[in-house]
Amino acid sequence: MSGYNTWLREQNFIAGQWVGADSGQTIAVTNPVNDDVIGTIPNAGEAETLRAIDAADAAFPGFADMALMARLDLLWKLHDALMDNQGDLAELLTVEMGKPLAEAKGEIAIGAQYVRWFAEEARRAKGEIVPAGVTGRRILVTRHPVGVVGMITPWNFPSSMLARKLAPALAVGCTVVAKPATATPYSGLAWAALAEEVGFPKGVVNIVTGSARAIAGAMMARPEMRKITFTGSTEVGKELIRGAADTLKKVSMELGGNAPFLVFDDADLDAAVEGAMVSKYRNMGQTCVCANRIYVQAGVYDAFVEKLVEQTRAMKVGDGREDGVAQGPMVDMDAVEKVESLLEDATSKGAEIATGGKRHALGGRFFEPTVLTGATQAMAFAQEEIFGPLAPVFKFDTEDEAIAMANDTVFGLASYAYTSDLARAFRLNERLQYGMIGINSGLITTVEAPFGGVKASGMGKEGGSQGLDDYLDTKYVCIDGI
Ligand code: NAP
Repeated sequence: MSGYNTWLREQNFIAGQWVGADSGQTIAVTNPVNDDVIGTIPNAGEAETLRAIDAADAAFPGFADMALMARLDLLWKLHDALMDNQGDLAELLTVEMGKPLAEAKGEIAIGAQYVRWFAEEARRAKGEIVPAGVTGRRILVTRHPVGVVGMITPWNFPSSMLARKLAPALAVGCTVVAKPATATPYSGLAWAALAEEVGFPKGVVNIVTGSARAIAGAMMARPEMRKITFTGSTEVGKELIRGAADTLKKVSMELGGNAPFLVFDDADLDAAVEGAMVSKYRNMGQTCVCANRIYVQAGVYDAFVEKLVEQTRAMKVGDGREDGVAQGPMVDMDAVEKVESLLEDATSKGAEIATGGKRHALGGRFFEPTVLTGATQAMAFAQEEIFGPLAPVFKFDTEDEAIAMANDTVFGLASYAYTSDLARAFRLNERLQYGMIGINSGLITTVEAPFGGVKASGMGKEGGSQGLDDYLDTKYVCIDGI
């Protein structure tokens, strides 16, 4: 076997065994470029998930007790296995998800970087000895792996969304039951194949596919599952928080966004357009940190729109595996229809299409990269996540007005601003209600920084030194009579 087939696994990985669903039922997985069936996956549910949780629970004491350097050695090997197989893993990702191959390679690489980062950070998961307020007493603060962790991930970054959860969990000694998205399960199952290859003990990594409700239901029911980490829509995130209440699990939620992208009159306009292109169109506009609303100050509005339209028109649309393709297909026809309905809403309220605006001549799930001018706060995308290659441009006059419009959403994940005024950059840092702010940068995800949102965008951080905290419990020991 060679190419992406090397890593394509059509079974679940439970207790170190590759297995089908108890019922024998499968789900077909298709390539979004042409709807060809790539393969099938087990349609697993409650019973299989409970077995996976038992396996993870049984594996936990041994894995948590493993010598730190032995455990981290497994992470280093995992990092190397990812990079040694970057091309094949990236092709698998593109075939199931549609993103251009160069972006898929970047996703595998950043996943490997998360593994390396958390292998490094785990060596610094230090406790504290705190001065006691009374004599004869010592206060020790120590940190311990939370236990079995349940992970549920979306289709838009099928490999790296798991990397950001698996790497810190495994680095500190947690064991895992993960459920990748049904549309893009193979990049998730590949993590199990890699973990098996580099020698993680049986039961440490378990991956199940199938009914989201049944799998999540089993995760919620079992008290042994100490933590749920989820990346996906705010709607499902809320359901999971409610579900986690009965067994009081820790929760981390990476949810939806509605990123404002502010361009001030004093910005470097070419840099701002470059930033807008990467922030808006990466992954065909299907990232939680994609620029959703582009606010441009009146003095540079026309010049910005002209350059944005020119660069948008220049993008090649097609199969992500072809050379030079910058835009692949969208994930499914529902996503295409959502963009169409947002466009219809906006044009009915006065927005104008500067380029694009319809399904692409390639047909199927392809949509033309689109720039809309004259956008206003009354249009649906001012509140809703677009999740597609549609760039609405709004005009503003003052900084106060721009900040007020930027904050006028329930979401608070990423935001961006282009300006050459340092004082303004500090004001934006204080006033923008977002977990992440890119000043003069449209691409800010990096392993060293805490990725995560506020408000309806969730809670918890992935990456940075903060990324370990969610997988550790803190204990305090009081030693008296000294
Ligand atoms: P989604 O519908 O919420 O699905 C995400 C995952 O949840 C999938 O594995 C899905 O399984 C599962 N799921 C669906 N219904 C569920 C339920 N009732 N209980 C438990 N699990 C359930 O989201 P999506 O459409 O795949 O992803 C897009 C969303 O993710 C966007 O809102 C985006 O902003 C957000 N996102 C956020 C971040 C971040 O870091 N903040 C990153 C990427 C994406 P099935 O596939 O089987 O339905």
